Formats: sequence, C-alpha cells, structure tokens
Amino acid sequence: MLIGDKYGDLTIIEDAGQRRASSVSKYDTQHYLCECSCGNQIVVSEPHLEYKIVKDCGCSKFKKK
Ligand SMILES: [Zn+2]
Repeated sequence: MLIGDKYGDLTIIEDAGQRRASSVSKYDTQHYLCECSCGNQIVVSEPHLEYKIVKDCGCSKFKKK
C-alpha cells in the first residue's frame, strides 16, 4: 500500500501512521489519509482499504452513479 494507490474513489495521499481503529480495538493499525473523488479527505485504516470496506468518504450514499 503506497501513496498514490487508489481504492475505489479513495486515493492515498499521506501515511497517517499507527492508530487505534476504534476505542474497542486492542491493536494499533496502519492508517492512511485518503482523498475521495469528491474532494473530501478522510483517514482510513489499511484493512478497510484493502478489503474495500471503505471505498469513499461516505458521499456515494448520496450520489447516483
Ligand atoms: Zn466523497
């Protein structure tokens, strides 16, 4: 997983470092700052990108393709 890689509508623009995925998570996970095709920027964990759990910032719910 590298800067510039695209996953769905998201493009990795920055390494966001190791973070807890959630308050209940026991382990730190690699996260990336991603830019959505709509221009929003969100931080997504590596497994969420890898398994395409998160493919955009959430805007696809509101737009029709
Ligand atoms: Zn978006």
